[in-house]
Amino acid sequence: MRTLKLIAGLGFFVLALGPGLIVLTDLHSFYGLPFAICAFLLGGVGWFLITRRNSSMSRNAKALIALTSFLCAGFVFAAVIPMFIKAIYTTSANACPNNLRLIDSAKQQWALEQNRKVGDIVTENDLKPYVGRGPDGEFPECPAGGAYIIGRVGEPPRCSIGTSAWPNDHVLSGGETGSWIDNWWTDFKAAYGTVLGLRHPLPQTIKTNGP
Ligand SMILES: [Zn+2]
Repeated sequence: MRTLKLIAGLGFFVLALGPGLIVLTDLHSFYGLPFAICAFLLGGVGWFLITRRNSSMSRNAKALIALTSFLCAGFVFAAVIPMFIKAIYTTSANACPNNLRLIDSAKQQWALEQNRKVGDIVTENDLKPYVGRGPDGEFPECPAGGAYIIGRVGEPPRCSIGTSAWPNDHVLSGGETGSWIDNWWTDFKAAYGTVLGLRHPLPQTIKTNGP
Protein backbone atom coordinates (compact mmCIF):
# COMPACT_ATOMS: atom_id res chain seq x y z
CA MET A 1 0.00 0.00 0.00
CA ARG A 2 2.87 2.37 0.81
CA THR A 3 4.55 1.84 -2.55
CA LEU A 4 1.22 2.08 -4.32
CA LYS A 5 0.55 5.46 -2.73
CA LEU A 6 4.04 6.65 -3.63
CA ILE A 7 3.54 5.65 -7.26
CA ALA A 8 0.05 7.17 -7.34
CA GLY A 9 1.37 10.35 -5.73
CA LEU A 10 4.13 10.67 -8.34
CA GLY A 11 1.55 9.97 -11.04
CA PHE A 12 -0.52 12.91 -9.82
CA PHE A 13 2.55 15.16 -9.99
CA VAL A 14 3.12 14.12 -13.60
CA LEU A 15 -0.57 14.78 -14.38
CA ALA A 16 -0.29 18.20 -12.75
CA LEU A 17 2.45 19.08 -15.24
CA GLY A 18 -0.08 19.23 -18.10
CA PRO A 19 -2.31 22.05 -16.85
CA GLY A 20 0.69 23.58 -15.08
CA LEU A 21 2.58 23.96 -18.36
CA ILE A 22 -0.43 25.55 -20.01
CA VAL A 23 -0.66 28.10 -17.21
CA LEU A 24 3.07 28.86 -17.48
CA THR A 25 2.96 29.35 -21.25
CA ASP A 26 -0.38 31.16 -21.33
CA LEU A 27 -0.29 33.32 -18.22
CA HIS A 28 -1.89 36.34 -19.84
CA SER A 29 -5.15 34.50 -20.32
CA PHE A 30 -7.93 34.69 -17.78
CA TYR A 31 -8.89 31.17 -18.85
CA GLY A 32 -5.70 29.96 -17.21
CA LEU A 33 -7.45 30.02 -13.84
CA PRO A 34 -9.21 26.62 -14.11
CA PHE A 35 -5.93 25.14 -15.36
CA ALA A 36 -4.08 26.62 -12.40
CA ILE A 37 -6.65 25.22 -9.96
CA CYS A 38 -6.45 21.82 -11.65
CA ALA A 39 -2.63 21.76 -11.50
CA PHE A 40 -2.73 22.87 -7.85
CA LEU A 41 -5.30 20.21 -6.86
CA LEU A 42 -3.46 17.42 -8.70
CA GLY A 43 -0.18 18.46 -7.11
CA GLY A 44 -1.90 18.64 -3.72
CA VAL A 45 -3.30 15.12 -4.03
CA GLY A 46 0.11 13.85 -5.10
CA TRP A 47 1.80 15.56 -2.18
CA PHE A 48 -0.83 14.23 0.24
CA LEU A 49 -0.45 10.65 -0.99
CA ILE A 50 3.34 10.75 -0.75
CA THR A 51 3.64 12.41 2.66
CA ARG A 52 0.85 10.33 4.23
CA ARG A 53 1.83 7.04 2.65
CA ASN A 54 2.70 5.53 6.05
CA SER A 55 -0.56 6.39 7.82
CA SER A 56 -4.00 5.06 7.02
CA MET A 57 -6.59 7.45 5.63
CA SER A 58 -10.06 8.15 6.94
CA ARG A 59 -13.08 7.44 4.75
CA ASN A 60 -13.63 11.17 4.24
CA ALA A 61 -10.06 11.72 3.07
CA LYS A 62 -10.40 8.81 0.65
CA ALA A 63 -13.68 10.19 -0.70
CA LEU A 64 -12.20 13.66 -1.07
CA ILE A 65 -9.17 12.34 -2.92
CA ALA A 66 -11.34 10.21 -5.20
CA LEU A 67 -13.59 13.18 -5.98
CA THR A 68 -10.66 15.53 -6.64
CA SER A 69 -8.89 13.04 -8.90
CA PHE A 70 -12.13 12.32 -10.76
CA LEU A 71 -12.82 16.03 -11.40
CA CYS A 72 -9.24 16.83 -12.37
CA ALA A 73 -8.85 13.78 -14.60
CA GLY A 74 -12.09 14.80 -16.32
CA PHE A 75 -10.74 18.30 -16.78
CA VAL A 76 -7.46 17.01 -18.18
CA PHE A 77 -9.38 14.81 -20.63
CA ALA A 78 -11.84 17.54 -21.62
CA ALA A 79 -9.61 20.59 -21.84
CA VAL A 80 -5.90 19.98 -21.30
CA ILE A 81 -5.31 17.16 -23.80
CA PRO A 82 -7.27 18.86 -26.65
CA MET A 83 -5.23 22.04 -26.04
CA PHE A 84 -1.96 20.13 -26.37
CA ILE A 85 -3.16 18.37 -29.52
CA LYS A 86 -4.26 21.69 -31.00
CA ALA A 87 -0.88 23.21 -30.21
CA ILE A 88 0.91 20.30 -31.91
CA TYR A 89 -1.18 20.55 -35.09
CA THR A 90 -1.37 24.32 -35.31
CA THR A 91 0.80 25.64 -38.09
CA SER A 92 1.89 29.18 -38.69
CA ALA A 93 2.07 28.49 -42.42
CA ASN A 94 -1.53 29.58 -42.80
CA ALA A 95 -1.69 33.00 -44.41
CA CYS A 96 -5.48 33.21 -44.42
CA PRO A 97 -5.98 35.20 -41.19
CA ASN A 98 -3.32 37.63 -42.46
CA ASN A 99 -5.32 38.12 -45.66
CA LEU A 100 -8.49 38.64 -43.64
CA ARG A 101 -6.74 41.29 -41.58
CA LEU A 102 -5.54 42.97 -44.79
CA ILE A 103 -9.07 42.95 -46.24
CA ASP A 104 -10.49 44.25 -42.98
CA SER A 105 -8.16 47.23 -42.81
CA ALA A 106 -8.66 47.90 -46.55
CA LYS A 107 -12.40 47.99 -45.94
CA GLN A 108 -12.04 50.45 -43.10
CA GLN A 109 -9.74 52.69 -45.12
CA TRP A 110 -12.05 52.57 -48.16
CA ALA A 111 -15.11 53.41 -46.04
CA LEU A 112 -13.29 56.32 -44.43
CA GLU A 113 -12.00 57.79 -47.69
CA GLN A 114 -15.23 57.23 -49.61
CA ASN A 115 -17.42 58.44 -46.77
CA ARG A 116 -19.33 55.17 -46.52
CA LYS A 117 -21.33 54.17 -43.51
CA VAL A 118 -21.94 50.94 -41.65
CA GLY A 119 -24.05 48.55 -43.74
CA ASP A 120 -22.88 49.80 -47.16
CA ILE A 121 -21.97 47.14 -49.70
CA VAL A 122 -18.27 46.69 -50.52
CA THR A 123 -16.96 44.91 -53.60
CA GLU A 124 -13.63 43.32 -54.39
CA ASN A 125 -12.89 46.03 -56.97
CA ASP A 126 -13.51 48.75 -54.38
CA LEU A 127 -10.82 47.26 -52.17
CA LYS A 128 -8.17 46.39 -54.76
CA PRO A 129 -6.41 49.77 -54.48
CA TYR A 130 -6.34 49.39 -50.70
CA VAL A 131 -4.85 45.93 -50.27
CA GLY A 132 -1.33 47.18 -50.88
CA ARG A 133 -0.78 45.84 -54.41
CA GLY A 134 -1.62 48.93 -56.51
CA PRO A 135 -4.88 49.82 -58.33
CA ASP A 136 -4.61 46.81 -60.64
CA GLY A 137 -3.24 44.59 -57.93
CA GLU A 138 -4.53 41.15 -57.16
CA PHE A 139 -7.01 40.59 -54.43
CA PRO A 140 -5.61 38.22 -51.81
CA GLU A 141 -6.57 34.57 -52.16
CA CYS A 142 -7.05 32.01 -49.46
CA PRO A 143 -4.01 29.70 -49.47
CA ALA A 144 -6.28 26.70 -48.95
CA GLY A 145 -8.73 27.62 -51.71
CA GLY A 146 -11.48 29.22 -49.63
CA ALA A 147 -13.56 32.10 -50.95
CA TYR A 148 -13.53 35.46 -49.22
CA ILE A 149 -16.83 36.95 -48.14
CA ILE A 150 -16.02 40.64 -47.85
CA GLY A 151 -19.27 41.59 -46.16
CA ARG A 152 -20.69 45.04 -45.65
CA VAL A 153 -18.98 47.97 -43.95
CA GLY A 154 -18.75 47.20 -40.25
CA GLU A 155 -18.81 43.43 -40.68
CA PRO A 156 -15.66 41.35 -40.33
CA PRO A 157 -14.58 39.71 -43.63
CA ARG A 158 -14.79 35.93 -43.57
CA CYS A 159 -13.26 32.99 -45.38
CA SER A 160 -15.64 30.30 -46.57
CA ILE A 161 -13.47 27.68 -44.87
CA GLY A 162 -14.03 29.34 -41.50
CA THR A 163 -13.30 27.05 -38.59
CA SER A 164 -13.81 23.81 -40.50
CA ALA A 165 -10.12 23.47 -41.33
CA TRP A 166 -9.21 23.02 -37.67
CA PRO A 167 -6.69 23.79 -36.29
CA ASN A 168 -5.89 26.21 -39.12
CA ASP A 169 -8.82 28.46 -38.36
CA HIS A 170 -9.60 30.71 -41.32
CA VAL A 171 -11.03 33.42 -39.10
CA LEU A 172 -9.93 36.81 -37.89
CA SER A 173 -8.70 36.49 -34.34
CA GLY A 174 -11.32 37.99 -32.10
CA GLY A 175 -13.86 37.68 -34.89
CA GLU A 176 -14.84 34.09 -34.10
CA THR A 177 -18.50 33.47 -33.96
CA GLY A 178 -20.01 31.22 -31.35
CA SER A 179 -19.68 31.08 -27.59
CA TRP A 180 -16.69 29.68 -25.73
CA ILE A 181 -18.60 26.44 -25.27
CA ASP A 182 -19.03 26.10 -29.06
CA ASN A 183 -15.34 26.82 -29.55
CA TRP A 184 -14.41 24.32 -26.86
CA TRP A 185 -16.65 21.65 -28.42
CA THR A 186 -15.08 22.28 -31.85
CA ASP A 187 -11.59 21.90 -30.41
CA PHE A 188 -12.57 18.84 -28.37
CA LYS A 189 -14.16 16.99 -31.28
CA ALA A 190 -11.40 17.91 -33.72
CA ALA A 191 -8.54 17.10 -31.33
CA TYR A 192 -9.73 13.59 -30.48
CA GLY A 193 -10.99 13.05 -34.02
CA THR A 194 -7.54 13.86 -35.38
CA VAL A 195 -5.75 11.64 -32.86
CA LEU A 196 -8.12 8.73 -33.42
CA GLY A 197 -7.75 9.08 -37.18
CA LEU A 198 -11.38 10.07 -37.71
CA ARG A 199 -10.36 13.22 -39.51
CA HIS A 200 -7.24 14.32 -41.25
CA PRO A 201 -5.62 17.63 -40.45
CA LEU A 202 -4.62 19.87 -43.33
CA PRO A 203 -1.16 19.16 -44.72
CA GLN A 204 1.47 21.18 -42.88
CA THR A 205 2.80 22.76 -46.06
CA ILE A 206 0.20 24.74 -47.94
CA LYS A 207 1.10 27.29 -50.57
CA THR A 208 1.40 30.80 -49.24
CA ASN A 209 -0.14 33.69 -51.04
CA GLY A 210 2.60 35.42 -52.98
CA PRO A 211 5.38 37.61 -51.58
ZN1 LIG B 1 -9.10 30.81 -45.85
